[in-house]
Amino acid sequence: MVSTRTPLIAGNWKMNLDHLQAIAFVQKLAWTLGDAKHDFGDVEVAVFPPFTDLRSVQTLIAADKLELAYGGQDVSAHESGAYTGEISASFLKALDAGYVLIGHSERRQYHAESDEIVAAKVKAAVGKGIVPIVCVGETSDDLEKHGASAVPVSQLRAALDGLPKGTDVVVAYEPVWAIGSGQAATAEQAEQVCAALREVVKESLGDDAAAATRILYGGSVKSGNIAGFMREPNVDGALVGGASLDVDEFAAIVRYKKHVGV
Ligand code: PEP
Repeated sequence: MVSTRTPLIAGNWKMNLDHLQAIAFVQKLAWTLGDAKHDFGDVEVAVFPPFTDLRSVQTLIAADKLELAYGGQDVSAHESGAYTGEISASFLKALDAGYVLIGHSERRQYHAESDEIVAAKVKAAVGKGIVPIVCVGETSDDLEKHGASAVPVSQLRAALDGLPKGTDVVVAYEPVWAIGSGQAATAEQAEQVCAALREVVKESLGDDAAAATRILYGGSVKSGNIAGFMREPNVDGALVGGASLDVDEFAAIVRYKKHVGV
């Protein structure tokens, strides 16, 4: 069956580009995709700038009526209060953020985010009408000990636990060993895990949600390898780190259908 899911190409800027650089970047991205007559209804595009850039990015996108989506790279599990350094889902919603990355491996690794914390953050985002992009993935150690699917499947089960059937989420499968390493998974490896993750969405959120949920692959995606992933039936886009910081390269990833004829 042909998928009706609109592919999503999402750029995770991590801790790169200040608010002035963000404005220049988004303007150039919009011009580049506009020049190329990119159809945003055909492939959706989202950027994930640092928190301090979000207001500038929102203002530019709203003022110029750009079709780019944007979101935060993290969100607090709490609504408000004495949580120094945290940003609530309400704050993101007030900036019209459509998405938020949750459970990125760098948050899990460097900030000790457990499956429970990730699940609480997912609930906080969903509660404010922000679509969480739930990131899951195995380390090379996990891969060796348990195979590719076991850890991502159990992380996703935990993240979706207790959500109402039909909740709108995006899943990003990002093998930790592939992030920033230049060593992407093969398209077949990504498909195998993304298919298993779709089964988890089905168990947790129901058949309709499983059919509608975008599952992205992330980990050393470039313009040269995106097409292979996008040919797989259970891969609905990409979460891109390093290559999302170069406008021309990111735009080439977004336009994968044009330059390789998927
Ligand atoms: C990421 O951090 O989400 C990521 C996929 O990074 P990279 O594309 O640089 O591997």
